[in-house]
Amino acid sequence: MKLPRTLKRIATAAAATLFLSVLAPAGASADDLSVADLNLRTPFECGQVWNANTRTNHNPLLSVDFQRSDAQGQSVLSSASGTVTTVADLGDESYGRYIIVDHGDGVTTLYAHLQTQSVAVGDSVSTGAAIGTVGSTGGSTGPHLHYEQRVGGTVVEVVLNGVEIYYYGNTTITSSTGC
Ligand SMILES: [Zn+2]
Repeated sequence: MKLPRTLKRIATAAAATLFLSVLAPAGASADDLSVADLNLRTPFECGQVWNANTRTNHNPLLSVDFQRSDAQGQSVLSSASGTVTTVADLGDESYGRYIIVDHGDGVTTLYAHLQTQSVAVGDSVSTGAAIGTVGSTGGSTGPHLHYEQRVGGTVVEVVLNGVEIYYYGNTTITSSTGC
């Protein structure tokens, strides 16, 4: 059967919608996903103790700054397995040198103010893989790791090792990653 051009477009769109609904069943949208389900790990070596700081004037609001006295140069580890999607340098602005790792299902983690970046876009990383080192690049006044967890591009409350970080204030965290 030869369809008029407009009808052909509608038929194609309907087929595409059907295809997408099979790929993304109802109930699996990014809004429904929780980082608590993903077992994201503290981005530091086993046994290291860090202060996790959250505050109401942080941008983005739900980011975490990890601090300790000898932060500079410490290894930064991927919170979970995934694919590196961003390795960028904003110079003296904002995140400075930063990395984004995509963990699938719309979940990403972001690591900023890095001194060094040791992965490239497209690299596959495992949980606890070293991706760079802590620094003070970008809009930072001292060495620390600025860290974000995002679902569908939206920054969410950080959950590490199944425990939500305290908002707003300071939490002492001992990393168990790779232990
Ligand atoms: Zn920060």
